[in-house]
Amino acid sequence: MNEEEVPYKCSCGGSLKKTKVEVEFFGIDFGLRDAEVCTACGSEYIDQETLKVIEKEIKERKIFALEKRVLVTKSGESLMIRIPPEIAEFLNIHYKSLVQLFPVDKDRLEVKVVD
Ligand SMILES: [Zn+2]
Repeated sequence: MNEEEVPYKCSCGGSLKKTKVEVEFFGIDFGLRDAEVCTACGSEYIDQETLKVIEKEIKERKIFALEKRVLVTKSGESLMIRIPPEIAEFLNIHYKSLVQLFPVDKDRLEVKVVD
């Protein structure tokens, strides 16, 4: 296994090493793919190329039945929308991730992952 170190760090500050990981999304097996794994916290970062393959495959299979209905709740003055774990995983959103919200229509809200 090729465990080359990469020049940037994990968000936890740990070192990242190139490796191969078994990638599975929504029950689809994408096989062994290039990824970077944090030697400190164990976070896995799948490379962009693989993410594109996954995204294409998912669109083709119309597994955008990733679609969920969630109930809007309230916290203080703000309304809360819960992000289900499978969507969070797909978008790589974690607790305290930074996202940008923009209404694209009167009944559509887009959430862009910033960090
Ligand atoms: Zn880490």
